Amino acid sequence: MRLILLGPPGAGKGTQAVSISDRYNIPHISTGDIFRFNIKNNTPLGLKAKEYMDKGLLVPDEVVVEIVEDRLKNDDCKQGFLLDGFPRTVNQAKELENVLGKMDTELNKVINIQVDKKILVERAVGRRICRDCGSTYHIRFNPPAEEGVCDLCSGELYQRDDDNEKTVAKRIEVYLSETEPLINFYDEKCKLSTLDGAKAISQVFDEIVEVLEGNTK
Ligand code: ADP
Ligand code: AMP
Repeated sequence: MRLILLGPPGAGKGTQAVSISDRYNIPHISTGDIFRFNIKNNTPLGLKAKEYMDKGLLVPDEVVVEIVEDRLKNDDCKQGFLLDGFPRTVNQAKELENVLGKMDTELNKVINIQVDKKILVERAVGRRICRDCGSTYHIRFNPPAEEGVCDLCSGELYQRDDDNEKTVAKRIEVYLSETEPLINFYDEKCKLSTLDGAKAISQVFDEIVEVLEGNTK
């Protein structure tokens, strides 16, 4: 299964990606996670990406495409993959088509998670992430059993630098101008299924499974 999760920041892509990756045994490839890993490890890529991420802007296409192309060549992608947060521009989507063409393969489905802007800001600002295992929580909608502590590994929970109101607003603006056009791009290729991401986490997941295993659009 070769999938893309599309949606604005805070839509729930990362949250659903964990369950999808687990159910279908495909790697979860998040370009945002790759950049955060590089920032944590002070690599040149991390330093470059941070300049853009802190402002809520997109990292340049050529940087992101190269990373994804390399990652898709790994053996663990042979049975499929789940892209989360990539592509984010029409140019990235076209580059992805080229990369997949060279690999003699194509996408099966693009799942578009739709959520109203008012909810997005609250979701992103309340998001907390485990420093050790990367699990995602929300202070109100999906709180850990003990405040600030990961349920799974007892790691410390932190708030992303770009999850403040000002940067989230900018990220949503960038999504609307740069990324939302991908909805049409993939709809025209008959690859798109759109879901209501305002529903509960488990309900959204059930609908994704229905899209992937049933024949609903
Ligand atoms: P994205 O990867 O699209 O930016 P996340 O999956 O990280 O979004 O979710 C953003 C925040 O919203 C997280 O704190 C997460 O726990 C919470 N969240 C995700 N899905 C839902 C949902 N269906 N209902 C309520 N909160 C959600
Ligand atoms: P995310 O973790 O998906 O919310 O992404 C966090 C930030 O990483 C974004 O606001 C961008 O600055 C950067 N980023 C992640 N994926 C991409 C991408 N495909 N293209 C450009 N920038 C990206």
